[in-house]
Amino acid sequence: MIIKPRAFFRGVHPDGHKSPTAGLPAERLPRIAEAVIPLSQHAGAPAQPVVQAGQFVKRGELIAAGGGAVSANIHASIAGTVKAVEERPDGRGGSMQAVVITAADAQEDAFFAPLTDPSGEEILERIKACGIVGMGGAGFPTHVKLAPPVPVDTLILNGAECEPYLTCDDALMHEKRDEIVRGAAYMAKALGVERILIAIEKNKPAAIAAFEQTELTVVPLKKQYPMGAEKQLIYCCTGRKVPLGKLPAHTGVIVQNAATAFAVCEAVELGKPLIERIVTVTGGGIASPKNLVCPVGAPLSALAEACGGETDAAKLVAGGPMTGAALTGTDAVVTKTTGGFLFLTAKETNSDAPTPCINCGKCAQVCPMHLMPMQTEFYTDAKEYENAAKYGGVLACIECGACTYICPARRPLAQAIKTAKAQLRRNA
Ligand code: SF4
Ligand code: SF4
Repeated sequence: MIIKPRAFFRGVHPDGHKSPTAGLPAERLPRIAEAVIPLSQHAGAPAQPVVQAGQFVKRGELIAAGGGAVSANIHASIAGTVKAVEERPDGRGGSMQAVVITAADAQEDAFFAPLTDPSGEEILERIKACGIVGMGGAGFPTHVKLAPPVPVDTLILNGAECEPYLTCDDALMHEKRDEIVRGAAYMAKALGVERILIAIEKNKPAAIAAFEQTELTVVPLKKQYPMGAEKQLIYCCTGRKVPLGKLPAHTGVIVQNAATAFAVCEAVELGKPLIERIVTVTGGGIASPKNLVCPVGAPLSALAEACGGETDAAKLVAGGPMTGAALTGTDAVVTKTTGGFLFLTAKETNSDAPTPCINCGKCAQVCPMHLMPMQTEFYTDAKEYENAAKYGGVLACIECGACTYICPARRPLAQAIKTAKAQLRRNA
């Protein structure tokens, strides 16, 4: 079944840049010698390590336990010996706590037992045990999101993949349609809902055609950025608006990424924790762009090598160009939420210095949340964070990056927004 979606107001229409990897099958990354597995790769409290240096672990074994009500378990993505639990560079100029595993010659698995016809409660328990988090970027623990504080009636699978360059979800939807459908059914059972929609942008006609053959209701979305943002997606699929300060669940809807549905299916049917994912490696500065199935903790250098090596990259980004993070080198690693790594040439990235704001208003015109990003930057620069909230509306910002993208003066609006939000959180 197929239903006609709405469009949301504002947003931008960046070039897709998806053709180098669109339609490419996902290849498995060659064996890695070492995995560096961060303890904080989800929203909420970091996981607490439960292994020590020198200990042997099998693939899928618990190495860090969720550290609070909102947190997630972390498992070994390769079998081998724990080399250290230590601080490692995070690839962004900072550091992170990580469990480092040296690969063993023989790769043995230690998965859970498969579940047959599980109850909703058993599904939730399995999702929690397997450390599944939202794989679209936010990393919110899935077992928490599937236990909303209010009743809901609809599950939306997010297959929009509106970020330019990224094709990891498209590749997964091509290859694992049936597993995604079964994963969605398990999540719907855990939620107690019957209505399941899958939302896909129209630039993925093969995925739309494939899911039309299933019991899911397909919503073919207009290509518009940020179509995949939760609030915009809920409005376009159902006409419901998430009130300011409320959760999406308050509209009766839960959104989960298509890749998360696949991970749920593997957790239930194979007992497999979330230890690998598809990552798009692309951009004009990499020799042979690919979609790669990578273990969590795989170093970016190994992914670059598998893609024929870097050519003339001027900028490295983890994630997409709109919401991703700039990297300082290739010591970044794959996490549960890494959709891609971009090797951008100088031509693909505008590195000219910002010029003064010309008050053109374009940033406000494209903001899908109807905010005033130029005001946020102004007050953030003045360290007046309360005014950034009052006049810029920064607390309602979904950090989509549309304002930064459109700004003719290349003002670092997204950066100012992140700074203001962090300061306001600290001051709260
Ligand atoms: S202010 Fe926030 S929500 Fe609005 S365009 Fe900028 S990043 Fe997106
Ligand atoms: S788009 Fe850039 S130049 Fe225009 S008002 Fe916004 S910050 Fe100023």
